[in-house]
Amino acid sequence: MDDQNTETRTYLGVPLTRPRVAFFELSSCEGCQLQIVNNESTLMDFLSLVNVVNFREAMTEMTDHYDIAFVEGSITRSDEIERLRSIRRNANVVVAFGSCACFGGVNQLKNRFKDPDWVRRQVYGNHPIDTNETARPLEDFVKIDLRIYGCPVKKEEVEKIITHIAVGRTTVQPKYPVCMECKANENICLFDVGEPCLGPITRGGCDSWCPNNRFGCWGCRGPANDANIGQMQTIMKEHGFSEETMLDRLECFGGFTTYAEELRKNFKAKE
Ligand code: SF4
Ligand code: SF4
Repeated sequence: MDDQNTETRTYLGVPLTRPRVAFFELSSCEGCQLQIVNNESTLMDFLSLVNVVNFREAMTEMTDHYDIAFVEGSITRSDEIERLRSIRRNANVVVAFGSCACFGGVNQLKNRFKDPDWVRRQVYGNHPIDTNETARPLEDFVKIDLRIYGCPVKKEEVEKIITHIAVGRTTVQPKYPVCMECKANENICLFDVGEPCLGPITRGGCDSWCPNNRFGCWGCRGPANDANIGQMQTIMKEHGFSEETMLDRLECFGGFTTYAEELRKNFKAKE
């Protein structure tokens, strides 16, 4: 990725300021970063827009001099807190990259268990790893300038957002639900073929990735604006799905935690 440093790029004849971009991972599967290198057809165009200076999955060079830091993963260890603060000090813009960074992601599932040692034994067996912190999103520790949602992030959306940054345009995140994109893609609603789906309440922007492939949405991008949880409960019930089925999905990625806690409380009160 070094060769790109020497080239001058233009957009519609105007010289581009190519920001120095760094990618970092905290507790995560690194799947969001993998999305960046995953699509060879657009990789070179993407690299022409930015000057990538840190990217462990794709290069060996490293530096503390960068403009934009994309940080994947959530905080689950105490050493990660200082690492994140140091990234924040170095960067002008910090992007929470993916649902772990934005909401805690699948890592936050461990927060529900009362005995962290039991969780560690179940996950790591005889090879324990010290994940001593409650899993938390980046914004609990540092100021976040931009969030890119998804588990994993959608490559096309990341490229669009980075293009906007490079040409100085404001990025507007979708506020509408996944159902809007699902209808535009002319999918049959999964509820009509017996599958549960959180599309009605989940933020769009993934181009209805899961329903396009006949999988119901699990809410990885968090709530759409004005998400109507009560109506979602009614839809689930009308189609024969239990409250537990809905809660499983709401709790999975951390974006619906507040709603899920309220529902679980009501659910328990009824038992
Ligand atoms: S499949 Fe899901 S996203 Fe698509 S229309 Fe039905 S509820 Fe909405
Ligand atoms: S359909 Fe739902 S679970 Fe699937 S990528 Fe989109 S927001 Fe995430």
